[in-house]
Amino acid sequence: MSTVLQAYRFALAPNPGQESALRSHCGAQRFAYNWGLGLIKANLDQRKAEASYDLDDDELTPSVSWSAYSLRKDWNQAKHTVAPWWNENSKEAYSSGLANLATALKNWSDSKKGMRQGRKLGFPRFKGRREGLSCRFTTGSFGLIETDRRHVKLPRIGVVRTHESTRKLARHVERGTGRISSATVSYRSGRWFVSFSVEIERADPVPVRPEAVVGVDLGIKSLAVLSTGEVIANPRHPEVAQRELRRLQRQAARRTSPDRRAGREPSNRWRKTQARIAKLHARVASARRDGLHKLSTRLVRSCGVIVLEDLNVSGMIKNRRLARHVADVGMAELRRQIEYKASWSGVCVHIADRWYPSSKTCSDCGVVKAKLRLSERVFTCSSCGMSMDRDLNAARNLAKLVEATTSSPSCGVTVNEPDGNPHKTCTMRAAGIATGRPTRSTPRRKATARDTLSHVS
Ligand SMILES: [Zn+2]
Repeated sequence: MSTVLQAYRFALAPNPGQESALRSHCGAQRFAYNWGLGLIKANLDQRKAEASYDLDDDELTPSVSWSAYSLRKDWNQAKHTVAPWWNENSKEAYSSGLANLATALKNWSDSKKGMRQGRKLGFPRFKGRREGLSCRFTTGSFGLIETDRRHVKLPRIGVVRTHESTRKLARHVERGTGRISSATVSYRSGRWFVSFSVEIERADPVPVRPEAVVGVDLGIKSLAVLSTGEVIANPRHPEVAQRELRRLQRQAARRTSPDRRAGREPSNRWRKTQARIAKLHARVASARRDGLHKLSTRLVRSCGVIVLEDLNVSGMIKNRRLARHVADVGMAELRRQIEYKASWSGVCVHIADRWYPSSKTCSDCGVVKAKLRLSERVFTCSSCGMSMDRDLNAARNLAKLVEATTSSPSCGVTVNEPDGNPHKTCTMRAAGIATGRPTRSTPRRKATARDTLSHVS
């Protein structure tokens, strides 16, 4: 039994009144954020100007505290003058904006002091009207409705119908194994969502066959190929979405797009088409995510050891041929899902070394091919004559990696360095496999509409 923090997200179907209330709350959140940022900025500028007159520290205008608590206190004093309409929205909307601002300021100052990993962050910027809408509720009456499983309750907004059943979360709440700590509403790609942050007590069953090893190779044509020979199909016909995307892109081309050099604003009709394109992308992406969730759950429940390829990180940044990118994005998501689901039920996850040539190795005799054309969908071994589907061969090699190196499987090992790693041997380098560049395993071709579509999926 372990307690984990899990998010449950449901698409909402608000009525027109509720929708405008949702918009109003998200706008209120943005207003409070921008108000607080303006306050802090003015204070910082004032102090900077005063300091340039050689004033002592105690003669300067006192600095405004950045904590969410004191920002809220300042807001409560100022709201009657700056926002006389404040009462139209739940106070949570303003608190949420101020809390976000406090986090943004803290991240910025930590980053400046070198206390934060990742790239340097700039000073927080004002939020524009066209940015993503969201608002978080941490107190008040929100949650599920006891009587039916098609509605959620939100403060001030009321009881909103959901597009799908809330059954999974409702069962946890009824059993007492789930406690909802906050609710966030957001507007993404033309749809409203609510996301509940829930503390869940999980007791996941151990895998049915804990000794089973499975290698997973993510593809473009199919979602994935397993080393057992199973091919998992793409969840949605990509051709249908592609045709629709091409149509919408032609439509956008006929409309007035923005031009920064000419200072031209986009037309509303162009914006509408862009919204439709975004919606289509989101649908393809969520279909793929759904497929990956089903796959990762099944793998974790059935196998004891799962082997994945590592991501081609440098390739992901540089590669403009997006096919590799698509598989990598899917792999990153699958890896994330498998890793957290595996930790719930004690399954081992092995990540193959990034340089391991899973596609070029013969899964029968182990001979590494110098070159494998990307158009070759079937792997044929030149030394033993074995012939097999390219992706299945790769998946088998991944599974073999663990079977060979770990006779006694130990959890916690995540990276496998196979001995005889070909990119380190001189002979192989002469043969032209890896010269410090990532091995290529996907088609070289120009980015097409299809690529850009699957890019987000
Ligand atoms: Zn062979």
